[in-house]
Amino acid sequence: MSSLSSLKAGATAGTLKGTVVNDTGAAKSADVAVRIFRRGTNAAVIGRTSVKVAAHGKADYSVKVALPSTLAKGNYYLGACTSYGKGDGSLGCATAQDEVLIKGGTPVRPALARAAQAPAECSAGGYSLQPAGSRLYPETGNTGYQSLHTDINLVYDAPSNLFLNGTYVDLQQKATQCLTSFSLDFERTNGVTSTTVPGPNLTVQEITINGVPATYTFKQPTYPGNPKGLDDPDPAAHAASNSNPVSATNPNPPACAPTGTSAALQGAQCPATKLVITPSAPIPAGTDFTVKVKYVGRPGVHVDGDGATEGWFRNNTPVGDGGFMTTEPVGSMAWMPLNNHPTVKPTYEFWSTTNWDSATGTGRTAISNGRLIGFTDNAADTNFPGGSRTWHWKSPEPIANYLVENSIGNYEMTEQVSPSGTVYYMAQATGITAARKETNLGIMRQHESITNFQIPFNGPFPFSTNGVVIGLPSVSFAEEMQTKITFPGGSISLGTFHHENMHQWWGDNVSEDVYERTFFKEGYADLSEGYNTARTAATTAGGLGTPAGDAAFEASLVTRFNNTYNSTTASWSVAPSKPTNANLFGSQTYTRSGRAYIALRAIMGKANFDNASKEIQTTFGGSSITAKQQIDIYKKWMPIKTQGCLNKLDVFFTQWWDTAYTGSPAAGNKPQITGPGLAGPGFYDANGGCLPYGTDTTSTPGGTVAATLSLTLGAPGTFAPFIPGVAKTYTATTEATVISTAGDATLTVADNSTTAPGYLVNNTFALPKPLGGLGVIKTYTGPVSNDKVNATFTQEIGSTDALRTGTYSKTLTFTLSTTNP
Ligand SMILES: [Zn+2]
Repeated sequence: MSSLSSLKAGATAGTLKGTVVNDTGAAKSADVAVRIFRRGTNAAVIGRTSVKVAAHGKADYSVKVALPSTLAKGNYYLGACTSYGKGDGSLGCATAQDEVLIKGGTPVRPALARAAQAPAECSAGGYSLQPAGSRLYPETGNTGYQSLHTDINLVYDAPSNLFLNGTYVDLQQKATQCLTSFSLDFERTNGVTSTTVPGPNLTVQEITINGVPATYTFKQPTYPGNPKGLDDPDPAAHAASNSNPVSATNPNPPACAPTGTSAALQGAQCPATKLVITPSAPIPAGTDFTVKVKYVGRPGVHVDGDGATEGWFRNNTPVGDGGFMTTEPVGSMAWMPLNNHPTVKPTYEFWSTTNWDSATGTGRTAISNGRLIGFTDNAADTNFPGGSRTWHWKSPEPIANYLVENSIGNYEMTEQVSPSGTVYYMAQATGITAARKETNLGIMRQHESITNFQIPFNGPFPFSTNGVVIGLPSVSFAEEMQTKITFPGGSISLGTFHHENMHQWWGDNVSEDVYERTFFKEGYADLSEGYNTARTAATTAGGLGTPAGDAAFEASLVTRFNNTYNSTTASWSVAPSKPTNANLFGSQTYTRSGRAYIALRAIMGKANFDNASKEIQTTFGGSSITAKQQIDIYKKWMPIKTQGCLNKLDVFFTQWWDTAYTGSPAAGNKPQITGPGLAGPGFYDANGGCLPYGTDTTSTPGGTVAATLSLTLGAPGTFAPFIPGVAKTYTATTEATVISTAGDATLTVADNSTTAPGYLVNNTFALPKPLGGLGVIKTYTGPVSNDKVNATFTQEIGSTDALRTGTYSKTLTFTLSTTNP
């Protein structure tokens, strides 16, 4: 299936046109079914036709379609599929370029975050989106603009692995300050590739901004926060290291990650990977502009701070031919210029022109994120004497820097339309053995069932398509490329498939805000492996949904946690939030962080944990999340929200995420807060509270309005009787006596009631004006004994306030809490 036209915007019916291409040597009759796709719908067929196609020929078709009248609000797309003729349900599909927005559709990302206070004067955009002092990839990301959408147009000769003339990217950006210049990340050298055929390096040919030529140069990064600015002449401000400071002789933070861990590499000069672009005139704040970068050369791989590589590998079918792309954390800049940081999430569209001989129906296949719009065959030209095919893909959803996929080479790709309304793409390198391909296909066809299993934990699947690319190179990792999960080494495993598909929510839809929080999404992916193992245990015990099956599911997670927590050899010596480039992908990022989520789930209860996870998805989908934003949502869903328990939850995260423990785990050198039912000290005290992080007691102050309006003085904490019709502010005092042995303490009083919180009530009547005096009463910076504290409450009564006979009161909660017990 080569193409399908779009329905006119706003139309509910029409005639669509398209083309079917027959790459085989026999004439075919192609049945074409047009469906409307959106995950969670049923991919209803809205039009059918059939067309005869000659051997190695193509044929146009037209088909009448009408949208169902019952479609719910949302973003849909139209797709036309025809059978591959293998009789196994595999399809070839083209999709319409334009989405169908029902009732206006829904936005694909939250409103763009407000930029930091922009300087009033025009100035250069900054060179990093990492925080000052970061030792993780401080050379990546650029400030002064937001990245909205990227069009990638590659002209790629697969046998020579070269980008040819005509290759460019169009980057649509919005200035967040007045820019005299701005930068992109682009690594031109490719001396190391998976098969080491170095050079020629990537070379920029021309850069324009809205069509107007701009000047450009490559500069070294500077360490973030350098007070001497981007062009500090001191070489020590531009040095590589895995640590901060750079070395014994260089007190600065690193400006970039080195290419390995050896001592000789720490302190080396950073390569000039900042592509600094100067427009012909400053770009005013708030302006949308398009940067076109034309370039040619050989894409390559980036060498990380741990010495590993990622980027554009050779697919090697045949040797040297084609690309297999997997790029976490920063390898995208080794094949394209971009704003290279996980918080930068433009939408994407791809056009990849590559070798194709339409006479024989053979050539290379390009696989990118999102959905295949279609392809166009081109006549022979100087770039492709044997002809070419342009593959057109579109991701309507935003993609973080390291999740952009664009593998081009000898791949076989089929599609599967699921009952849920999702198109699944299944691609594997042709060089994989036939038997292995069949095995791989059997696992890839489980994509829908894996997704359906994971939805109850995460909420609706966030993307309009999904898929897998299996390449041949033996690179070291599978990766969660958005909607195109990559597996290296020619094979796919079910456990890893669960892990990478879980990432489509965690990492892909909601991304980490800094590289230091890679554990945020790897922990969830690790948890998904635990869910998968637990499901197997549940199935053995009678199935999920049966009491025995559900118990087996929970027991499996407990075992997973306890095996790690009780291990005498587990390592707790690296805090997940404080890795180096050298250990970013160590066990603390996966195992420890995954076990932390099991403990959090036990603390919160599984329903609360799932609800919090879903709220993170709906609130931060299409964007990224900070640690505080993440923790605040868990606090919102805590079953006990006393200050003591919220304090203890903060300490839980500090222990599991932020603390390095040296020494033997058996001697207690590991997190000391776990969860109910798990190994370790648990979370709640014997009374279900959170001692010693807070003791919660209650008091009931109140005031009366006597039927006779006579004066009655009550016990401490009682207001003088409220007199109707007389404006007056009443006060009442409760004395508290504080004893604390903690390092700090805070005495607060709160109204945790659900009826008119903050107001005194008399049966169904509440006073019009709030009770004054709630909140923090006193803070202590050290221990204290028998400190007498007066909590003074005020109640304002207005001259027109209506008062009801009886007693107005409220049970208030006094909390003495500490973060340092
Ligand atoms: Zn992962």
